[in-house]
Amino acid sequence: SKEELLSFVIKCANFAAKKHRNQRRKDVDQTPYINHPLGVANILIQEGNVFEPIVILAAILHDTVEDTDTTFAEIEKEFGHRVCQVVREVTDDKTLPKAERKRLQIEHAPNISREAKLVKLADKLYNLRDLEKSVPIGWTSERVKEYFKWAKAVVDGCRQTNPALERELDILFARHCDSS
Ligand code: NDP
Ligand code: ZN
Repeated sequence: SKEELLSFVIKCANFAAKKHRNQRRKDVDQTPYINHPLGVANILIQEGNVFEPIVILAAILHDTVEDTDTTFAEIEKEFGHRVCQVVREVTDDKTLPKAERKRLQIEHAPNISREAKLVKLADKLYNLRDLEKSVPIGWTSERVKEYFKWAKAVVDGCRQTNPALERELDILFARHCDSS
């Protein structure tokens, strides 16, 4: 029912807010971290026209396992198998070295589900807009450029999934990446 759905979405936002409560973004203002997963879900709805509850819940939860003590078992118990599956697909293996994780994101992107690609596209769009607004403390402009280039390689593996989101990403790539 409508009531159940709305209740689930708020339960999910509340869960993520608690999990991320001690984290901040890397921007100069040290924005509360929860602004990011909520912003990713908001991009999917407002710009991507994505209204699938599985995708929206997965977007809200997408960094909980990677960045907090949250386990997949906990996500599955609270939000079900399908939401958990999408979160799994967008979660990096933190036991691997950072460079390897970044390489695997590019390699895996074409093989993940449509739902996971939608979360990835909105996640990259949010992070790239954040980077364009303000460069994190300690980052050189060269590092920002490298990040755009890497993000484009991941996005290229997620294409033909959501034209509106891909168009917005291409606007950013046109400003920050070399063509071809
Ligand atoms: P990081 O992976 O360290 O940081 C980017 C990630 O931080 C994003 O994907 C996002 O992930 C999160 N994030 C939090 N706040 C912000 C924000 N305000 N704007 C954008 N993203 C934010 O960065 P790199 O990709 O540059 O690091 C890759 C490797 O490069 C690392 O091994 C690093 O040590 C190394 N490195 C590179 C340098 C260079 O000059 N190229 C210099 C120093 C180190 P999420 O969605 O999960 O929140
Ligand atoms: Zn994210």
